[in-house]
Amino acid sequence: MKWKIVIHGGAGNITPERIGDREGDYREALKACILEGVAVLKKGGSALEAVVSAVKALEDNPLFNAGRGSVPNEHGIVEMDAGVMDGRTLEAGAVTMVKHIRNPVLLALKVLQESEHVLLGGEGAEEFALQHGFELVDNRYFITEERWKQYVNKFLSKNKKVVEINSLGTVGAVAVDKDGNVAAATSTGGLLFKHSGRIGDTPLIGAGTYADNEGAAVSTTGLGEFFIRTATAFQINLLHKTGTSLQKAVQQTLQQVKKLGGTGGVIAVNSKGEHVIDCVSPGIFSAVAEPSLKKIDNEFSVETYLYALELRCSTSHT
Ligand code: ASP
Repeated sequence: MKWKIVIHGGAGNITPERIGDREGDYREALKACILEGVAVLKKGGSALEAVVSAVKALEDNPLFNAGRGSVPNEHGIVEMDAGVMDGRTLEAGAVTMVKHIRNPVLLALKVLQESEHVLLGGEGAEEFALQHGFELVDNRYFITEERWKQYVNKFLSKNKKVVEINSLGTVGAVAVDKDGNVAAATSTGGLLFKHSGRIGDTPLIGAGTYADNEGAAVSTTGLGEFFIRTATAFQINLLHKTGTSLQKAVQQTLQQVKKLGGTGGVIAVNSKGEHVIDCVSPGIFSAVAEPSLKKIDNEFSVETYLYALELRCSTSHT
């Protein structure tokens, strides 16, 4: 069985005009982060360990809206969400509205491993973190200069609409390991200028994150409200489990998101090693890594995709 890992760094108004000369930075960052997951899978590690490693690296990279680099809410405070799921056992862990956890994905994993519960929020989640040896960090650690500028611009602008296409950048990973087990992880600062206490799709198992060996591992990014309303990740899993191809399952579900007025994208993988990256937005920062077919220069290959067109042109998705 061949391993494979797919990651995303958010979907939204990603066009060559908007990305400009930062394109190289995004591609390099995506490569560096996916390699963290590859290192786990190459050693024979599990899909769950691989997705958590890749998402941790994405959280640590300030380019993305998760961990350091998260967007502030309406009060200028970062509140983060994360979720993980193991397709082998259907065990899941998630945290929401955490303000002082350097790597929310690690806390979500701890909830999966050590708690009787699936989703912990706010102060209770941070209390659980302290009980399990996590360090609490100042909220200012998460806010980069660029994010603060975006916050101030929003604060000063007349347009206070939050659920809009520009403010995305969530991160996620899905993987299948050498034993055919799948897993998913997603992490986010949510939407810029969101209402304090707003919870998006990311930590909601079945909306932004889901994994089932008999169906698919799915991680979403986009306007969370629409993914919650369509139970996107679970819907894709169920469609695929009941006979729809993975590509069609993703397409059909995303069309429903679009019809409701939503925007964003999805990464998915199944236990056979088929994967799909798709979006109903101009682009999705994403990358795929798998053992190389040639095995001459390198043991594995990494492809990065930014724009929807690039995705549609890419030949093989399986
Ligand atoms: N889905 C995330 C949320 O709504 C945002 C994103 O994907 O960028 O919280």
